[in-house]
Amino acid sequence: MSMNVPFVDLPRRYRHLKPQILAGIETVLDSGNYIMGETVERFEKKMANYLGCRYVLAVANGTDALILALKVLGIGDGDEVIVPANSFIASAGAVAMVGAKPVFCDVDDDLNINPELISELITSKTKAIIPVHLTGRAANMKPIWAIAKQHGLYIIEDAAQAIGAKYHDKMVGNLGDMGCFSLHPLKNLSVYGDGGFISLNDEGLYNTLKLLRNHGLKDRDTCLQFGLNSRLDAIQSVIAEIGLEHLNEWTRRHRDIADMYRQGLREFAKVPEEGNGYYGVYHNFVLLTDQRDELQKKLATLGVETKIHYPIPLHLQPASESLGYQAGDFPRTELFAKQMMSLPIYPEMTDDEVHYVIASVQQCIQENNNARM
Ligand SMILES: *Cc1c(COP(=O)(O)O)cnc(C)c1O
Repeated sequence: MSMNVPFVDLPRRYRHLKPQILAGIETVLDSGNYIMGETVERFEKKMANYLGCRYVLAVANGTDALILALKVLGIGDGDEVIVPANSFIASAGAVAMVGAKPVFCDVDDDLNINPELISELITSKTKAIIPVHLTGRAANMKPIWAIAKQHGLYIIEDAAQAIGAKYHDKMVGNLGDMGCFSLHPLKNLSVYGDGGFISLNDEGLYNTLKLLRNHGLKDRDTCLQFGLNSRLDAIQSVIAEIGLEHLNEWTRRHRDIADMYRQGLREFAKVPEEGNGYYGVYHNFVLLTDQRDELQKKLATLGVETKIHYPIPLHLQPASESLGYQAGDFPRTELFAKQMMSLPIYPEMTDDEVHYVIASVQQCIQENNNARM
């Protein structure tokens, strides 16, 4: 039996939520209040409550969340920020956009920043570390806390892929000075456009961030400090609020699918195992295999769509050229870029689809192995 399993299927989720979403949007349209306002404040409170932090500040997208977090800490020209070489572009782009220099760090087997390699990258210019909780698994924070403390560095979590993930029972977004989240349609909690937010506990930073996301305006007419227009639309915030009601159930489903993949594929490829103290949300389920390109092609012929997150490491991007890195600088990142393959994983996937993906991967790897013998 053949099936088509797309890598994502956003309309499927919409069909499940349609009446709730349309009613929510209608309330906003009727209210006449389309940007920020009460609706967005309500979302911020609920999200702060969910994450267990004092403040949540809604912004226009996850990249702005990172840019504003760096800005509010005074990071800019002449400063350095340590970023894993294996991440989405925005983790480094945000650093460059405030005028600072991204300093890349290789990753460990968990695909996240390798804390053992951080210390040697620290200079007198280093101001912060951005651990990315890639694929929805928390970075190894304990050693990062120790390094940050020892050198007086800020920790800005890039939690764009990891909402709901935990590290020793603490929610991500609470593991540093600020947590940066995205509500992009492809994230675990998503809206129908762009959106994002920052989590934090410091009142002073929160008050400044509130200014910075809205032109630095204290009131209608008075600008205290030049800022951005990085506000969240009320429509997107009402959609995020509805999603938040479903988030725990979606996370459980992500985790169940990850369990099925792990059990079915452990003997065929390297699968993400969950270490003690970790609670992953499996934004992506990433296999490691040295037959990646063949496997991906064969799976496509069987109707299973896969993606690569990410095929070009940050230090080898054309945009990084002036930073002076070269191939070979980060061996783990570069190896994983050739081995990583993300399987479809979303709460609306049926068990049949999950089993079909597993059987297809098994079949392709077996055929490949036989052909190699
Ligand atoms: C999605 C993502 C971002 C950026 O979020 P946007 O809302 O798309 O700006 C940043 N970092 C990581 C790791 C991401 O996956």
